[in-house]
Amino acid sequence: MKIISPNYIYTNNTLLSDIAIAYEKKIIKLAPLDELTKEFPNVDIEILEKNSLLMPGLINAHVHIEFSANKTELSYGDFMGWLYSVIENREELIGGCDAGCISKAIENMLISGITTFGAISSHGMDLSACENAKQNVVFFNELIGSQATMADALFTDFLSRLDASKGVKRDGFYPAIAIHSPYSVHPVLIKKALRIVKDENLKLTAHFMESKAERDWLDKSDGDFKEFFVNLLKQKTAVSGSKEFLEYFNGYNTLLTHVVEANEDELQNISNNNHTVIHCPISNRLLGNKTLNIKELNNKNINWVVATDGLSSNYKLDLFEEMKISLFSHGDAPLLDFAKALIDGVTINAAKALGLNTGEIKEGKNTDMIVLDLDGPPNDELAIHLILHRYNVSKVYINGQKEI
Ligand SMILES: [Zn+2]
Repeated sequence: MKIISPNYIYTNNTLLSDIAIAYEKKIIKLAPLDELTKEFPNVDIEILEKNSLLMPGLINAHVHIEFSANKTELSYGDFMGWLYSVIENREELIGGCDAGCISKAIENMLISGITTFGAISSHGMDLSACENAKQNVVFFNELIGSQATMADALFTDFLSRLDASKGVKRDGFYPAIAIHSPYSVHPVLIKKALRIVKDENLKLTAHFMESKAERDWLDKSDGDFKEFFVNLLKQKTAVSGSKEFLEYFNGYNTLLTHVVEANEDELQNISNNNHTVIHCPISNRLLGNKTLNIKELNNKNINWVVATDGLSSNYKLDLFEEMKISLFSHGDAPLLDFAKALIDGVTINAAKALGLNTGEIKEGKNTDMIVLDLDGPPNDELAIHLILHRYNVSKVYINGQKEI
């Protein structure tokens, strides 16, 4: 056991002063330092500096680490233009991100205070780096393929990646499943994957309603996606309607990424099924997609969290930056309350969505915590300042281990 004594603790929108934490892999007790030292004598004590603020480690629920090679290769501003540029640069993107590039992306997340991430893995090339990462990892093996003739081969490949991830035996690593999107996965494949999710109680995620092209294709088998599907995949109609797609997930508590084009009925379904929406504001902006209607999500009591998406549609994997962009994108949201909600979206609410015992500084929770160096004593508007000032992250603890 160890004791850490920061100047301040910020958790669940509450600021605590001069409270220390006794911890092992889990948080044992929060109390004034003298009380803890009496109860647990002869324990290592780390006393932090003035104006140090300890908070839960950040959780990035959606990132594509395999696509970390992109800097300026991809075209931004329009979803279809971006997609074509991904296809055109596919070899360079995938081949260009070797083990070193993947590990660097993971290390950069650690430095910016991310102690847990959800890796969407298209090819399994990031498995070994995620196995060796210091962070907790929910490893989402992604299933993709809309052509029925290819279904068996694609499913076999998916199963072998899933099996490889199940072979990773370390604390804080969780094999999971991603269904790419309604337009790109054949219902036969979706149903087979969902059987595994149910039988093995795995976490599940999918992209949903990211672009107008997706909306038009699913609604009418028309729009900007038509040429893409007809020419590249010889498909004239969408493999699922959006209603049908969402209904596959009834009862599964799925994390749905983007959701910026969802309609009233779809949001109601998402609410009824306690799905979580993953908000990636930088990705949405760069790909010419809409801004997520968070007000409507709140009206419908839908849990939402904040994530970076991959470096194929972002310039850094930093949740403080992501929160700041969101804060400025939602100009009509009440500033302080929205800042608090954003912080919940990278801590407690993200932990809940991923089903992990973390995201809070509380007895019994996993010891995932970071220390920020504030400029001075925090005030009632701390949530805003955390997002605006990008304070230095000086220490990072994951499952009780000091990693920075
Ligand atoms: Zn994504």
